[in-house]
Amino acid sequence: MIKGSCHCGAVHFEVRKPLEWITECNCSACRKLGTIWAHADESEIDLTYAEGATLSYVWGDKTLAFHSCKTCGCTTHWLTLDKAEVPRMAVNMRLAEPAAVANIPVRHFDGADTWRYLD
Ligand SMILES: [Zn+2]
Repeated sequence: MIKGSCHCGAVHFEVRKPLEWITECNCSACRKLGTIWAHADESEIDLTYAEGATLSYVWGDKTLAFHSCKTCGCTTHWLTLDKAEVPRMAVNMRLAEPAAVANIPVRHFDGADTWRYLD
C-alpha cells in the first residue's frame, strides 16, 4: 500500500495494489505537469478530498480530467470521463513518500507519439 498527498494535505490517496511499475509519460500535458503515474482501476485506489477541493483540466479528446489541488497546486490524479470506454485512473507518485516508491521501476510511455512504452 502506497500513500500520497498533495503538499497541503487536502487531497490524499492510497494505492491498494502492488505496483510492478510506475509511468512517466511524455505527452504535452504530463511532461509539463512533471507527473509519474500509478495506473489502476478505481477499485484499487482510495482517493479522498472534499467536494470542490480540486481544479480539473480537460483537453484533447476529452476522455480524462487531470486534477490539481486548488490550495497548493499539486497535480494529484486523473480520472476518465464518462465517454471513456474503460474507466481508469492514475495518481501522481511524485506525491508519495520517496522511500515508498524508490524500488519501483519507472517506465517511459510515449504518449506524445506512438502511445507505447519505450522500453
Ligand atoms: Zn493541496
